[in-house]
Amino acid sequence: MRNKELFERAQLTTPGGVNSPVRAFRSVGGTPRFITRAEGPYFWDAEGKRYIDYIGSWGPAIVGHAHPAVVKAVQTAATLGLSFGAPTEGEILMAEEICKLVPSIEQVRLVSSGTEATMSALRLARGATGRDKIIKFEGCYHGHADALLVKAGSGLLTLGNPSSSGVPADFTKHTLVLDYNNAQQLEDTFKAMGDQIACVIVEPVAGNMNLIKATPEFLNTMRRLCTEYGSVLIFDEVMCGFRVALGGAQSLYNIKPDLTALGKVIGGGLPVAAFGGRADLMAHMAPLGGVYQAGTLSGNPVAVAAGLTTLKLIQADGFYTSLSAQTAKLAQGLTQIAQQAGVSFCADSIGGMFGLYFADQVPASYAAMMQTDKDQFNRLFHAMLDGGVYLAPSAFEAGFVSAQHDDAIIAATLDIARTAFAQY
Ligand SMILES: *Cc1c(COP(=O)(O)O)cnc(C)c1O
Repeated sequence: MRNKELFERAQLTTPGGVNSPVRAFRSVGGTPRFITRAEGPYFWDAEGKRYIDYIGSWGPAIVGHAHPAVVKAVQTAATLGLSFGAPTEGEILMAEEICKLVPSIEQVRLVSSGTEATMSALRLARGATGRDKIIKFEGCYHGHADALLVKAGSGLLTLGNPSSSGVPADFTKHTLVLDYNNAQQLEDTFKAMGDQIACVIVEPVAGNMNLIKATPEFLNTMRRLCTEYGSVLIFDEVMCGFRVALGGAQSLYNIKPDLTALGKVIGGGLPVAAFGGRADLMAHMAPLGGVYQAGTLSGNPVAVAAGLTTLKLIQADGFYTSLSAQTAKLAQGLTQIAQQAGVSFCADSIGGMFGLYFADQVPASYAAMMQTDKDQFNRLFHAMLDGGVYLAPSAFEAGFVSAQHDDAIIAATLDIARTAFAQY
């Protein structure tokens, strides 16, 4: 009963008992697990129960939890001082590493969260182009800046409505919300108002409406239109960067965005995020240019130590080949088990990210994703949780595999899934 007690107590001093909404299990129901420690592919809750973890802190734990090299780097950095508010060599090393691994990034600025990264990239795009309008896609999440908490309006080409209370409609009136993977709609929008569009921001592999991959046609059209109309193309790779491939989704699709937002993996579990791209654009940032952005803890030395060590570890030979293979094994295994049980289910994966869908076909848009069977997912979630497997507590989130999810871990997961699907 310890989880339940903690949850009740948490709700007295914290809204909903959690510091980020999805952790509250609202979507799946039941009691959130309070985590006490994590190691490799596992974490343990307050009742001492062990889970195979498939959220990996929502992506950062790509080398596994509490990797000895990362922990050691953090310990060493911490003894040298926690924060200086003045530059360090570690930040240079981090920037050099990011620029080396993601060639479209010529210059980069470190921040502390993905929300800051996308918000700042947006401001930069507007500052550099002198335009106000931005395009985002339904179902993509870019953090919780006002201009990005927007859902589609009622008609095509209508401006978006705030998706959160507290966001004035005035603040979102420049945000156009279009359908993911709809190249024609994007084309029509640019035709109508391309010269007013500061930027297009997209998750090139979407991971916040479950996993949905962009089609090459969609991203190629986006790249072409942005170039043609002088709009800035922003890839939000906060989730998929260093997760689907060493060079991010842009390396898989072979597309060079003008700006990229990074986060999650690059902090290795501590708060580091970044935005960067073309040097001529980045030159608009203060102190060189007029686009203001700053942060007391930006490039924090302890966080950078964790991030930098993680970025080194993911460059090991065969790291992504193996990560992708393990993730695919999980997705294919689950699909096979579900189909044998006669359940309408499919799964997809890319790099170390996977999606589970109670549908016959992998969805390609937010609307298609909304058609999948949420109740069936919730049943699976709880059956797996009881069996000791922690999936994302929502049908609309992606899952994550780490380098520590070896064959035995995947096999153990599939055994538990077999029991779960047998009850359908
Ligand atoms: C997680 C995420 C963000 C927000 O990052 P935070 O660090 O939670 O602020 C932005 N964009 C994408 C694609 C994300 O997955």
